[in-house]
Amino acid sequence: MRVAEPAPNLPVVLITEPIGAPGLRMLEQACTCIAPWRDGIPDQRALRAELPRADAVVVRLFEIGAAELDLAPRLKVVAKHGAGLDNIDCAFATERGIPVIYTPGANANAVAEHTIALLLALARNTCTANAILRDGRPYERGQFQGIELAGKTLAIIGLGRIGSRVARKAHGLAMRVIAYDPYLEAENDTPAILVDSLDGLLADADFVTLHVPLTDETRNMIDAGVIARLRPECRLINTSRGSVIDERALHDALCDGSLAGAALDVFEHEPLAAGHPLLQAPNTLLTPHVSGITDEAMNTASRYVANGVIDVLEGRIPDGLVNPAVLSQPVDISSQPERPQ
Ligand code: NAD
Repeated sequence: MRVAEPAPNLPVVLITEPIGAPGLRMLEQACTCIAPWRDGIPDQRALRAELPRADAVVVRLFEIGAAELDLAPRLKVVAKHGAGLDNIDCAFATERGIPVIYTPGANANAVAEHTIALLLALARNTCTANAILRDGRPYERGQFQGIELAGKTLAIIGLGRIGSRVARKAHGLAMRVIAYDPYLEAENDTPAILVDSLDGLLADADFVTLHVPLTDETRNMIDAGVIARLRPECRLINTSRGSVIDERALHDALCDGSLAGAALDVFEHEPLAAGHPLLQAPNTLLTPHVSGITDEAMNTASRYVANGVIDVLEGRIPDGLVNPAVLSQPVDISSQPERPQ
């Protein structure tokens, strides 16, 4: 555990989970950094206990809701090391006048590459073959017979930074790419056929991949009704957020054969509990929310986040600002409540 005593004139930055080394070094040079975690595992109680003295907080998946914001009277910026903002109460932060920043695109290529890896692994039963071989179980090579991606239809839901990169890579694998994204700018050069309703892509898909943010609209968007409209040969990939899928409906469809397979990097509750039904579902490949974790993505996200935090603390408008309205006035760091000892 690293808990620094704050230097009198340096702002205090609470870092709730491990971040890339370059950004950490930048923050350590400009601020007092507090990082109450052990072996990469955050200590939730210690993190909450540090909120009262934090001038800035850097989070990855740590929840910053109204309760956490209420614990942090000195807070001048919430910084998300990553893309999904669903763990931050941005509306309440805005109400409190606290800027929220994030690092859009920093891990987009990492997630897109992981998505393609999952797509290939599902198509060729790679993980099942690996597990059976290692377990020493009897097998017949034919049981691992897969399918080829060339000529198959990939349906992308959400054609933003990650979805559009997946489209380009899938196009390079000679797949037919169709996509649904009602909020897309008219100008779009992504190699995908755009459809104007979710229904428009379900019946055609050999693979569906999800790249939407978790919002009120996308929560449970892949429910039993949607799954029922997919072909039984279809395979589903989710590297966005677990709650976009109704996990029980997915589990049932995998078990009764109405869906051919699934690859999931994200879950409604993380880490995935031992004994979770999806662990036993057939033709299911699971990874523990690692799509965005590469050397390159971690380093880039950490630099973005450090630059943003330092910009706000030094009175500049940062990149990746989610709620620009709160920074129409420069941050006044002279009138702040006394730091608790
Ligand atoms: P983005 O904002 O660039 O793209 C999201 C796209 O989804 C946008 O184009 C938006 O118009 C579209 N969209 C929104 N609501 C939609 C709806 N109802 N139907 C269809 N499309 C809709 O975001 P991004 O950088 O591509 O990231 C997407 C999500 O991936 C993030 O919000 C995050 O939750 C997740 N993510 C996961 C990991 C991981 O490690 N597994 C890493 C990074 C991001």
